[in-house]
Amino acid sequence: MRWGFIGASNIAERVAASLRKLPGQTFVGVCSRSAERAAQFARDQGFEAGHTDLDALLSQGLDAVYISSTNEQHHAQTMAALAAGCHVMCEKPIAMSLAHAAEMVDAAQRAGKVLGTNHHLRAQATHQAMRQMIADGKIGRVHGVQVSHAVYLPPHLQGWRLSAPEAGGGVVLDILVHDADLLRFLLGREARRITTVTQRNGMAQGALEDGAMNLIEFDDGILAQTHESFVARDAMTRLHVLGTEGSLYAEGSLSQAGEATLSWRHDGQVEHLPMPKVDLYEVGFGAFVRACAGQGQPLATGADGERSMAIALAGLASAASGQARLIA
Ligand code: NDP
Repeated sequence: MRWGFIGASNIAERVAASLRKLPGQTFVGVCSRSAERAAQFARDQGFEAGHTDLDALLSQGLDAVYISSTNEQHHAQTMAALAAGCHVMCEKPIAMSLAHAAEMVDAAQRAGKVLGTNHHLRAQATHQAMRQMIADGKIGRVHGVQVSHAVYLPPHLQGWRLSAPEAGGGVVLDILVHDADLLRFLLGREARRITTVTQRNGMAQGALEDGAMNLIEFDDGILAQTHESFVARDAMTRLHVLGTEGSLYAEGSLSQAGEATLSWRHDGQVEHLPMPKVDLYEVGFGAFVRACAGQGQPLATGADGERSMAIALAGLASAASGQARLIA
């Protein structure tokens, strides 16, 4: 596929490295607001050219674009790429409003193009195994989930996430969207209501939150607790799914590393299940490339991106009002 990248971002470097492992991918061009950064990124990552004009990039006969600009740009860039006949893999949150997200999903459908959301945690082998075990009833009826996705935001990412509400900064739009999507993926159920309390620990500026705890109510009465933070140094991420006949417990799975431990407790025993290390972006983009060739769906579709956003936006509304919020 002939690829264009929109946004010369940190995550784009990582994605380019993973995409390079897939056969048949051509790196045509990258678009940045800065000519210097576009040229540098193109040189470093082996793209044919750097651009500052999106239309110039989109006129290169591309098959697909990967959008990893700051969040407020995702909607307009996706609409432009779809209009130019491209499939789109868009970063999360896919937009800043549900109306924009719905418009993107609808435009992709009308254009007959694939719109994927880069919810990379679906590619984690541990999460795929947990999802299958839950569906197979290995821990009975699931009634609760605990998610600890509290990390220390590394200094090189301490920019717009901490200072720019207009770009979708804050831990809720950054990390809760991933947790919300992962819970939908694991449980195969929809979230109906959320209660969120946010926190300001001095890393994020102004009104932006750098910590959040949420109670999310899913179909069939399943309750999920999630914790997201930018200020948790030396913390381990944890995911604990509780059923009537046992539990599943993963450590380290909520990261970009692609490796984690998984244990299954049942009948008074503990089984440690070996999990392969995977390149999450290679797996995710592999599924996207196959979907563009008419084989299956991306791991997370645009509609999944819309759902995860709906949960996060309801969480922000809950935090602002001090009350539980129904999820639109
Ligand atoms: P970055 O801060 O690295 O990049 C965002 C934008 O900022 C870039 O597109 C670029 O815009 C501009 N930029 C980059 N470096 C500089 C610089 N040195 N000086 C000035 N501007 C710069 O963001 P991330 O890579 O962390 O995030 C980008 C998107 O990807 C977000 O939507 C985020 O939510 C998502 N993300 C998803 C992850 C996942 O695993 N799914 C992981 C990390 C991020 P331009 O080139 O146009 O000027």
